[in-house]
Amino acid sequence: MGIISGLPGQVVLILLFVSALVYFTGRILARLHIEKFDKNQLDLGNLRLRFGRFFLEILCQTKVIKGRPLVGLMHALVMWGFVAFSFATFNHMAIGFTGFQTTGFEIDGWYGAFVAVWSFLVLVGMAYLSYRRFIIRPKALGKLSLTSGLVAFFISILMLTYLLDWWGLENRDLIWALNWWAHTFSLLALLVIVPNSKHLHLLLAPIAIFLKPELPSTMRPLDIENDDLGLVEFKQLPWLDILQVNGCVECGRCTDVCPAQASGQTLDPKFIILDMQHGLLSGGKIIAGTTEEVSAGKAWIDEKNLFQCTTCGACTHECPVGIEHVGRKILDLRRGLVSEGRINNDKVVKLFTTMEKAPHNPWGISQETRRKFVQKENFPIFDGNQEWLFWLGCGNGYDPHGQKVAVAMKDILNEAGVSWGVLENEICCGEPARRAGNEALFLTLSEQLTETFKGKGVKKIVSCCPHCTTMLDKDYRQIKDYSDLNITMLHHSQLINKLTAKLALSPEYSGTLTYHDPCYLARDRGVVSEPRQILRNCGYEVKEMTHCGSNTFCCGAGGAQLFIADDGNDEKGKDRINQIRFKEAEETGAGTIAVACPYCPIMLGDAAVRSGNQSVAILDLAEIVASRLKTNKKGGQ
Ligand code: SF4
Ligand code: SF4
Repeated sequence: MGIISGLPGQVVLILLFVSALVYFTGRILARLHIEKFDKNQLDLGNLRLRFGRFFLEILCQTKVIKGRPLVGLMHALVMWGFVAFSFATFNHMAIGFTGFQTTGFEIDGWYGAFVAVWSFLVLVGMAYLSYRRFIIRPKALGKLSLTSGLVAFFISILMLTYLLDWWGLENRDLIWALNWWAHTFSLLALLVIVPNSKHLHLLLAPIAIFLKPELPSTMRPLDIENDDLGLVEFKQLPWLDILQVNGCVECGRCTDVCPAQASGQTLDPKFIILDMQHGLLSGGKIIAGTTEEVSAGKAWIDEKNLFQCTTCGACTHECPVGIEHVGRKILDLRRGLVSEGRINNDKVVKLFTTMEKAPHNPWGISQETRRKFVQKENFPIFDGNQEWLFWLGCGNGYDPHGQKVAVAMKDILNEAGVSWGVLENEICCGEPARRAGNEALFLTLSEQLTETFKGKGVKKIVSCCPHCTTMLDKDYRQIKDYSDLNITMLHHSQLINKLTAKLALSPEYSGTLTYHDPCYLARDRGVVSEPRQILRNCGYEVKEMTHCGSNTFCCGAGGAQLFIADDGNDEKGKDRINQIRFKEAEETGAGTIAVACPYCPIMLGDAAVRSGNQSVAILDLAEIVASRLKTNKKGGQ
């Protein structure tokens, strides 16, 4: 038997195994830029949530199965099969390392049969996944790749050789030895191929999911004192982002759910990640630039695509390997471009110029408009003695429909006997500025507001705007002075739901409506049941749209798109994001769309005008509740 067993075989095995292992480890450490690893940059808080995610998303494969049930199940069979196979692999290698003198552990009994069943299931999974990738070839998977074919081939050889051995090869004869080496070569080949392919996710996905930030789409605080003004060069990428970018499995799930893609725009979240990966692998310098710079090979990501993102978070929510596309990449790259003055988008520039001038709101409307509104509606002014600060924000302080919502909220707070007040003068919290990349402006506004909150002794804030709520409950908490104030921040749907017992509602009216989940409320904050409970309390049956709850579909306004979106979609013959969403709402047949954000009615109202169907009412939760208050003379809808 010579070279294939006994001492020569043992020596050859050790040489091959050590070489493959050294190569495997070296490639991974190089791809992960391990020299950048800094444990201080990792957030390991809330271990319960992290282990929970690990259990559900990795061990149970829930996310993989939920998005694409059949494909997900086949992938899960392969993954679970690997786990079942692990001891058999250890045993297989032990036979070779001990010079083929032992038969390894006894696995011919129940464990051998158990692994055989899993080997068969892995073959079934691989056959389906290969059929899909190489025969069906869904667009989302992109171009065919040689490494995918090789990985499928070697995994199949692993399973077949195990089954052959288990089925009853004569121990230690020539066929057994050839079969043993075929199994071993397949294992070693995978050690060489995996770190050079998307299959690296086998190793990186569990780590990325465990280390994923606790709150989705969180923007990283900048280290301005050390000239960190946003992401510009590859060398700035934090280690966690390098890990995430290298873990992309190229499944295209993020592309499938992206509203910008659905509306025919050029932004593709999968390629934001893959372009970063390829840039890193090629030793690229600048990450994002103009179309010309990208064509000339001077940058990897077209800035035009970055400014199309609505920050809806659908991509991050859907990604099965824990990649954060929005806060840590797209928005950080916007900040880098803005800090260097390298933006070629007139609307973004106009937004900043408008917001930099007093009164700072993104519409540039005089603060007198808000002051008159507050006086006319007799809103109490917050003086530090009330329990709640009712934060109007620009959407409910300046927009005409937003103002109606604020009045409805006033009625609700009064009916519930809550003590509250609004600021006499309010500036923008800086949300559109930060999302569009102007960190300097955001910091100026947030410092002013923090001082105001401190001076007034604000302890609890309620807002009808999910964007302001996220800002004041997540982004602002990165600022120590604000975080020290320990302010409780609630969206109005959360407060109204808490106040239900104190509200005299007249729910005898019954009817149906549909509810549009705002992305920042449902996906970012996880507030899904409260708005529905409120609507049921008002006597409504909620007819769900195809995309609802945390799988909601954006209205198109977020990420400052309300102010900077390109108007060119009509020419491309595709529906805009708001039109796609409005059609979904129309399909429910409901005559009313309930909303919970001041931006959504602006976007859906625009879509209603474009579609020529203005018979659908678009009402905020607060308006619906206020109309059900028994003391409200106007009564029901
Ligand atoms: S956040 Fe939304 S719009 Fe932006 S890339 Fe992701 S899915 Fe697309
Ligand atoms: S980023 Fe995530 S969802 Fe998108 S292609 Fe890569 S692995 Fe799939």
